[in-house]
Amino acid sequence: MRGIYVHVPFCARACPYCDFDFQVGRTPDVAGFIAGLEREASGRGQELAEWTCPEGPGDSDLADAPWSTVYLGGGTPSLLGPAGLAQLGEWLARRFPGAGAREFTVEVNPEHGDPSLYAAVRAIGGTRVSLGTQSTEAEGLRTLGRVHSPEQALASIAAAVEAGLRVSADLIVGWPGQTAAGVQADVARLTQAGAEHVSVYALTIEADTPWPTLVRRGKRRLPDSDHQADMLAAAEQALTSAGLQHYEVASYARAGAEAQHNLLYWTWQDYLGLGPSAHSARYFADGSVLRRGNVRGLPTWLADPGTPAEAERLTPEAAAIEGLWTGLRDLRGLDVGAYLRRFPAVTRGWIEHRTRRQVARGNLEWAAEGQVLRIAPGRWYWHDAVAADLLA
Ligand code: SF4
Repeated sequence: MRGIYVHVPFCARACPYCDFDFQVGRTPDVAGFIAGLEREASGRGQELAEWTCPEGPGDSDLADAPWSTVYLGGGTPSLLGPAGLAQLGEWLARRFPGAGAREFTVEVNPEHGDPSLYAAVRAIGGTRVSLGTQSTEAEGLRTLGRVHSPEQALASIAAAVEAGLRVSADLIVGWPGQTAAGVQADVARLTQAGAEHVSVYALTIEADTPWPTLVRRGKRRLPDSDHQADMLAAAEQALTSAGLQHYEVASYARAGAEAQHNLLYWTWQDYLGLGPSAHSARYFADGSVLRRGNVRGLPTWLADPGTPAEAERLTPEAAAIEGLWTGLRDLRGLDVGAYLRRFPAVTRGWIEHRTRRQVARGNLEWAAEGQVLRIAPGRWYWHDAVAADLLA
């Protein structure tokens, strides 16, 4: 499997907690953006020609389309509207024929999630939408600065289901004033409306967002880490009670509804990122990985879309260390056989040595008679701390 991510860098307005790469404006220049994508793909022509040749131990499963998943993220891809999405989909189909055959996700903001938009998503091959619902409480949406209402959040899910699309809903927890009962109600509403995948994020505030200024003006409070932990626990309890499996640190799904594109990241598969601030990763047979990050900011990217801001080839051992961190995000566990095939420079003994301390502390455990290494049940909250120790 390998996938394509396209970063669509437009938003109608800035949410005060968000530090993603986007440009504010109600009428995106779709033609200019697609022209930039074409120039990026052309500029990376040699790289892409090599990339589509099966290579390396992870490529034996390339029997399906070369680019099996597509993810249109942002920003706000749904701000392109039905006509803009059609243009972008047409370009993708021409440039990458057959891409997204396994899964094709479009991020949609609830205020845009109506039958005409979903018809356009279906027409370009979309199979799934990731809805920026964030909360189903009016107070939560107000605090987070979202423009949609609770009713729109739920109606956008129902309309997507009606259109035959699979639905993932985002939920932000830990905003000041949120309660465990509120989280439980969010989960009940989202899952009853038809979301079969829910991504849960704790509200984190970066310094270069509007939120700190709002705090200084007395219009917002900073989130409290203990409160966030309580809300994350409430979300986990409610989601698993509703029949969704907690399969990744921030993701819950009904059986068969796991995000195939995101699984690429956690199982060390190649992905191509296009658009401002998009990242790419390409694994080689010796286990090394080429990481590339595009420049941030639409005008900067448009000025020279083919030249990355950063490109680094990690050594086989550095890639293996990073691979432990990404692989352990999958709470079902890291398949040790697949890991050693992807990273042939290291051995089982190397894994045992590197993870020994976290196993002794009870944060990691071996399962399936030693074939699987995973975060121990109940310890997912400390994934980042465990990973930092493994990376050290
Ligand atoms: S709509 Fe999404 S990408 Fe845009 S500012 Fe809000 S959270 Fe960020």
